Amino acid sequence: MIGIFGGTFDPVHYGHLRSALEVKELFGLSEVRLIPCASPPHRNQPAASALMRLQMLELAVKNRPGLKIDTRELDRHNQLNNVPSYMVDTLKSLRHELPNQSLLLFIGSDAFNSLTTWHQWRQLFDVAHIVVMTRPGFEIQQLDDFFKSRLADDKQALAQNRAGKLFFQQITQLDISATAIRQMIAKKQNPGFLLPDAVIEYINEHKLYQAY
Ligand code: ATP
Repeated sequence: MIGIFGGTFDPVHYGHLRSALEVKELFGLSEVRLIPCASPPHRNQPAASALMRLQMLELAVKNRPGLKIDTRELDRHNQLNNVPSYMVDTLKSLRHELPNQSLLLFIGSDAFNSLTTWHQWRQLFDVAHIVVMTRPGFEIQQLDDFFKSRLADDKQALAQNRAGKLFFQQITQLDISATAIRQMIAKKQNPGFLLPDAVIEYINEHKLYQAY
């Protein structure tokens, strides 16, 4: 079983990193793939360039062998010139490479609440399971029949199928967001202990997020 953790990572912070490490252990995954998106279809364009977001991610997961960076969304964007990053395409390409593995797509509860706006969102379940991680400030909305019919009672059900199940996982609650970090930096406040020092140094060196 491998985990997939997509994000803008603008910048990567401990809310992402702690969650990724925690679910890797909770689900006994061989690895969690962190997949930075190039051009997020659902939100404003990132403040930092794709290359800088990738470099910050590299600094953050250095010496963390279980957390791997997967650049397929950035690569596809470069090859196909501004095609938006659709998670369904990313999962299909991972499925092609890993035909026999269970794929677990991890998303925070904020992302789950807008899942039905994602491109071909129902098809996500043809290729992967979706595991929703609790995030402070975002209650899960009422589940409709489509979701209820996919609910897994326990983690074992995820290992028994390669895709198709929905699972909710309580994780350590860290009320950290990239938006709040960008705002702090623009206000010249210190974002220390919300993200790795190496990433803060990179932000300072490249004068990122100064106007927001
Ligand atoms: P922004 O504030 O710029 O929207 P963000 O902090 O939400 O960014 P993203 O890169 O957009 O970070 O998030 C990627 C994924 O990580 C999403 O599935 C999101 O729900 C999840 N995530 C982000 N922060 C947390 C957190 N503190 N706890 C749990 N999940 C999180």
